[in-house]
Amino acid sequence: MGDFNLTVILDAIRRSSGGLSRVELAQIVGLSPQTISNISRRLLDQRLIVEAGKEGSGPGKPRTILRLNPAGMYALGVHVDPAVITSVVLDLVGDVVKHSRIPTPAGSNPQRVIAAIADEIKGLIEDSGVDPGKIAGLGVAAPGPIDLDEGTVVDPPLLVGWDRVYLRDALAEATGLETLVDKDVTSAAVAETWAGGASGTGSFVFMYMGTGIGCGIVLNDEVVRGTSGNAGEIGHIIVDPDGPPCDCGLRGCVKSSCIPQVLVAEAEEQGILDGGRKGTEGPEVQEGFARLCDAADSGDERAIAIIDKSAVLVARAVAVVTNTLDVERVVFGGPFWARMSERYLERIPALLAANSAANSIHGIEVVGTGVGEDVGAIGAACLVLEHTLAPRAQRLLLEG
Ligand SMILES: [Zn+2]
Repeated sequence: MGDFNLTVILDAIRRSSGGLSRVELAQIVGLSPQTISNISRRLLDQRLIVEAGKEGSGPGKPRTILRLNPAGMYALGVHVDPAVITSVVLDLVGDVVKHSRIPTPAGSNPQRVIAAIADEIKGLIEDSGVDPGKIAGLGVAAPGPIDLDEGTVVDPPLLVGWDRVYLRDALAEATGLETLVDKDVTSAAVAETWAGGASGTGSFVFMYMGTGIGCGIVLNDEVVRGTSGNAGEIGHIIVDPDGPPCDCGLRGCVKSSCIPQVLVAEAEEQGILDGGRKGTEGPEVQEGFARLCDAADSGDERAIAIIDKSAVLVARAVAVVTNTLDVERVVFGGPFWARMSERYLERIPALLAANSAANSIHGIEVVGTGVGEDVGAIGAACLVLEHTLAPRAQRLLLEG
């Protein structure tokens, strides 16, 4: 790619809902008709865009509309969650061509996880029938913290043994693809801006309900990553001053009082989940959480109380974030979201409004993700599209 004007034009076409004519393009991006014409020709030759019919009923020649060619380029995305590994192939317009999900290999061996991901990607490319020559790269969404310079994942909670794993380089080597790594919460926010529709516009926070709880931040349509790509760590916001002690020395942080692992442990202690204590690895937590939600759905008052209380606590953390950033919307999603969505969406809007500093000036919309359950993996693939197509400097991404 490498040509700034070319990416500016591609980006403008991508952001338009129904495509653009060359005249409209010239007006939007401020380039001369001659430049637009030359670059359109190059993009047509590269099959990145297509001419999609003519438009216009007024005087003068009808205008030819230019649109992205979905089959012009593809991107792979992988979401490494402590419980599950999700992989997707996206086309150029951000639609999922193929996806897969496997449980994260148990134990504390990152090499096994990396080998499993590489195998999964190989299979996915074959199954998708996509020309490997058209795959722009691999995006990886990983739990934070991440080290941008090294392309490493550093001691993520619940991935035991991942002290400092060179995820980017290992996957680039294993797959032969250019590889980018970003934090899972940020990837989710990126996915929302690319594929979420109305909920992905303007200023919003993406509340990522995973093995941990974090947030992705989008202000005025720009994803905010912070100095090192680690923005959005909200695990130590205090939501329950008398709550359980946290490893940071305080009490009642998000991390010690309302992440799924804590809720499952509470349910086990109260005897709601039979079969005694299970382990604390990702798949076990996810399984325990599913059983807790089953119990709540079947009317178990104690299970309902645990989930309802967690909604109150999460709402307090969300209020701190929305008051700090003055956003218009909160989007919930992530691997644990589907099971809690109904109860959370029932309670959190009112709780948030009650704690919102700007409540008399504007409301805050609370919605579930428009992207669906694969939001992390889709976001990871969108990173590749964004890196290849968007005209902004992507210096904060990890390049392999
Ligand atoms: Zn803490």
